[in-house]
Amino acid sequence: MKDLAQTLELTDFPGAPGLRPDLSFVIPAFNEAGNITQTIRQVCAEATRLVPSFEVIVVDDGSSDGTWAEASALANALPLRVLRLSRNFGKEQAIMAGLQAAEGAAVVILDADLQEPLTHLETMLRHRADGYEMVYAVRAHRDDESPAKRLFTKAFYRLLNMGAETPIPADARDFRLMDRKVVDALCALPERNRFMKGLYGWVGFRTKAVPIALQPRHSGRSKFGFRGLLKLGLTGLTSFTAWPLRVWTGVGMTVALASIVFGIWIAIRTMVFGIEVPGWASVVVAVSLLGGVQLLSVGILGEYLARVFTEVKGRPGYIVAEERRASSDIRP
Ligand code: UDP
Ligand code: MG
Repeated sequence: MKDLAQTLELTDFPGAPGLRPDLSFVIPAFNEAGNITQTIRQVCAEATRLVPSFEVIVVDDGSSDGTWAEASALANALPLRVLRLSRNFGKEQAIMAGLQAAEGAAVVILDADLQEPLTHLETMLRHRADGYEMVYAVRAHRDDESPAKRLFTKAFYRLLNMGAETPIPADARDFRLMDRKVVDALCALPERNRFMKGLYGWVGFRTKAVPIALQPRHSGRSKFGFRGLLKLGLTGLTSFTAWPLRVWTGVGMTVALASIVFGIWIAIRTMVFGIEVPGWASVVVAVSLLGGVQLLSVGILGEYLARVFTEVKGRPGYIVAEERRASSDIRP
């Protein structure tokens, strides 16, 4: 496959560019200079084998390395479009930029680091031929991750699925094949705070999971550290669940009820045994506990309000600064 990947040229793709391709590949890339050339070439080689026509859309998510230069250098030789976002908008927005630009009858989302083996494409296409409108990859195992990360992931999906309308599978990847209908449905959603993993499930359609084993990253390191994942997790929770808001009604009622019972008990005890020396410790504990609970609930309210605020502002999720595509000189 490698030899083919090295030698492919635009003339090897009959019909491209111009017509609606059978398959569009959307590849979000943030500082992937070490991977992007090889990824594009391998995707083109694999796609040539599998479908009559295709396009590759690389979305440079505000990289500060040579990603844009590397990718756009290939744009004249391959059925490739490279979009450069004006800054780093995050993976979810980069995917959306790619989906909005894709013209194919079906779309594949793929990471730029080749962690997901392309050999699964064939299986995905087979499932599509069987009538599945979305075929997505799930991690077969998480052996490569630290126990702490596995624990956090498990807890997060447990919390997320407590309130979600549609179950969000814990090990699903962004790597997926989607029919045009699914892509149009995703693009039509107006929300800007996007948690793609939730939205894929929310739009519904006939779906099929394909278990895959992830490869180690080809070059560079993961962009999602603890803070990145936490931010993504908060977006997920606030856009797919309402229980963190509602739970305070229950907490408030329980505390109020407990206080009433405690009050009655103190009144009776005072009547029977008389006034004893008051315990200051219990007062301090009760006050600080309630203070903490109230701050927590206000904080959670704030999280949701912040999402509402960004939605209301109505700013676009991303801005495309520049686009490079094959024979762009003859296109408007
Ligand atoms: N990515 C992106 N914007 C970001 C962070 C990541 O477009 O702000 C891309 C990245 O270039 C890669 C994909 O998202 O193609 C997955 O990122 P990464 O491999 O770092 O995540 P992991 O595989 O560790 O989940
Ligand atoms: Mg990766």
